[in-house]
Amino acid sequence: MSGIAATVPSFKDARHLAEQQAALIRDQVTETLDLLDAAGRVLSESIHADRNLPPFPRSTRDGYAVRAAEVADVPATLALIGEIRAGENPNTMLRQIGAGETASIMTGAPVPFGADAVVMVEYTEQQGAQVKINKGVVPGENVVPAGAEARQGSVLVERGQRLNDAAIALAASAGKSQLQVYKRPRVAVLTTGDEIVGIDTLPGPTQIRNSNSYSLAVQIREAGGEAVLLPIAPDQSSKLRSLIEEGLKADLLLMTGGVSMGRYDLVEQVLGEFKAEFFFTGAKIQPGRPIVFGKCGATAAENAGTYFFGLPGNPVSTMVTFELFARPMLEALAGTSPRKLRFVHARLKSEIRIKPGLTRFLPAHLSGEFEDSKVELVSWHGSGDVAATARANCYIVIAPHLELIPAGEFVPILLRG
Ligand code: AMP
Ligand code: MG
Repeated sequence: MSGIAATVPSFKDARHLAEQQAALIRDQVTETLDLLDAAGRVLSESIHADRNLPPFPRSTRDGYAVRAAEVADVPATLALIGEIRAGENPNTMLRQIGAGETASIMTGAPVPFGADAVVMVEYTEQQGAQVKINKGVVPGENVVPAGAEARQGSVLVERGQRLNDAAIALAASAGKSQLQVYKRPRVAVLTTGDEIVGIDTLPGPTQIRNSNSYSLAVQIREAGGEAVLLPIAPDQSSKLRSLIEEGLKADLLLMTGGVSMGRYDLVEQVLGEFKAEFFFTGAKIQPGRPIVFGKCGATAAENAGTYFFGLPGNPVSTMVTFELFARPMLEALAGTSPRKLRFVHARLKSEIRIKPGLTRFLPAHLSGEFEDSKVELVSWHGSGDVAATARANCYIVIAPHLELIPAGEFVPILLRG
């Protein structure tokens, strides 16, 4: 697909186009980091279990190790032959549990040979060297067999997985003090507009301070990238051209502003001069309809070229379109395996009436707790209203065919941090 696309895709089609391109990304650069420095990063090697997990049949309770068949009829009385604490090896300390015998055992301790279950201490009475068992167990009860959680040599954490608390815990349990991860991709941010000034400049009465570069930098960091803020580009082709050229040296270029239908919206035109391939120009969404997605410098060689997004300049449009389309691309560049966009659902507090035709992502507030969570739109003045969006903690997602959503319905929402 080259040149400017004639038809504007639906939200879902546009999202799939972004996902398709994200799935083509390969060969990212890697680095080795200390375990805790790797938290939040994406693993570029798989972590294997260096031993069985658990390494021995582990008791999950404080109680008595028994042969389940011997306590089928209760009460049953067994002879106490010893005590097994966590960290001890009963099979070298004790003889195996024989007929009519038991040993007291602590949570996390190895279940000795001869026993196949553990009775919780609450269902027992110790009387000297004898233990009365008051409740039966089935074989395996309160015991996790050796290797049940992971076999030695099996994959504990897959390459491409973001390292969260559980993944870091698994790496620790496999003795990995360092991990190989993908380097953070560099994302150039280019804001355009004659009216936009830097935040250290006192704006004239009709000038606007650049806020988009900063919201994008936060979103980029959060998605695993490193933001590189370029100077503000005026609505003038030659300056825009040289800054786009600069931005295309990064792993991904995000532009904001200049993609609407105005006389000075020059971004698409200048990208065209770079022989950009456009995957879509516009999507049937609100906010963010004018979004542009493409690639520059693609050659026959696989993976060549730089992807770019022209995000609409209205600040809420910039935030929403990053979330919907740029994030999957950035996550792929950061090494994450492709993920589907998923919405959670919440009950609508007051009805919504809307004109059909576009998929909408409207700033909303989720309140209440537990089963009584409720969501409602925040009142706003359109996609330039960052103040309203800052009061929101989610977006209500409205399918394009809907005209009325009654209060009390469950609606899909996209959470925001
Ligand atoms: P545009 O997409 O260029 O037509 O801009 C749409 C609206 O977003 C205009 O009101 C711009 O002033 C505003 N805008 C564009 N870029 C930024 C920015 N970097 N920070 C804040 N507002 C912006
Ligand atoms: Mg503009």
